[in-house]
Amino acid sequence: MPLSESELIARFFRNCGAQRRDVVLGVGDDAALTECPPGMQLVATTDTLVAGVHFPLSTPAAAIGHRALAVNLSDLAAMGARPAWALLALTLPEAEDAWLTEFAAGFGTLARAHEVALIGGDTTRGPLTISVQLLGHVPQGRALTRAGGHAGHLLYVSGSPGDAAAGLAIEQGRLAAPPQAAPYLRERFLMPTPRVALGERLREHASACIDVSDGLLGDAGKLAAASGVGLEMFYSALPVSRPLLEALGERSARELALTGGDDYELLFTVEPARTAGLERALPQEQWNYSQIGVLRAAPGVVLTRDGTVMDFSHSGYQHFA
Ligand code: ADP
Ligand code: MG
Repeated sequence: MPLSESELIARFFRNCGAQRRDVVLGVGDDAALTECPPGMQLVATTDTLVAGVHFPLSTPAAAIGHRALAVNLSDLAAMGARPAWALLALTLPEAEDAWLTEFAAGFGTLARAHEVALIGGDTTRGPLTISVQLLGHVPQGRALTRAGGHAGHLLYVSGSPGDAAAGLAIEQGRLAAPPQAAPYLRERFLMPTPRVALGERLREHASACIDVSDGLLGDAGKLAAASGVGLEMFYSALPVSRPLLEALGERSARELALTGGDDYELLFTVEPARTAGLERALPQEQWNYSQIGVLRAAPGVVLTRDGTVMDFSHSGYQHFA
């Protein structure tokens, strides 16, 4: 006999996330009640994943659950916020036990790792769509935004962008990667690691921040535009992972690092006088970030190599079309 909606919620989602003392009323009533800590501002974000649009239909349920929360955690990380509470609006073609078990495990493991409580949601029937709303907090007036950069501030990125786009291409059968590289790249797409701890630490050091979800170059352009400046990115400074190099070769790997999506890394700017403090507090090898450019007064985004402006077109995907 199929599960009723309330049985489904009780079984898979009532105890899915972390238990938090600031949740006065969680799953079960008409809405949830939480205590916001004094002196903190509420930070809110939401992101929707549609099957076949934001992930391939073949994606394992645990990865979908992980990803639905991870993309939202990444948004809060970019604000320098600490995540606390999530709501999950789930649209399902059918209530399949094994699928729901895996999905809830993927979502719940990541939620508990970040002490996020699942405090409510909605469950409906229809084409597979997962919409997560994530709430968190940040000390009054201390949130990082896209708009705080100034000309001369140095531009950094965490991790190695491009890996996830290669992983997606492998998932979709558009890219054949060597056996030693493929599992890493697929994992980077399926189970992205939101840089929550880095984002919170960056409140002390960064002037502006954005999470890289749509491609490094484009998202860098959004940060610069919001800050009212332009930027120069250094082609040779782009961090490219060894598996990405092995899968694509130097040139295509760098192009994908610039244009690929789904990285969920943090791109941030630091005033020159504060870079020593950044590197002391957050050693680069330990926190895994690199300087890749600088903000400029002149608007627009330029990519340079040995000081010469490169003519770059967004051709990353064509390399394995
Ligand atoms: P209502 O009809 O008042 O919207 P629902 O029957 O949709 O109530 O939901 C009952 C309770 O279960 C609510 O507290 C709601 O927030 C929660 N809920 C529904 N679906 C989910 C879900 N997928 N994950 C977590 N909580 C859910
Ligand atoms: Mg409802």
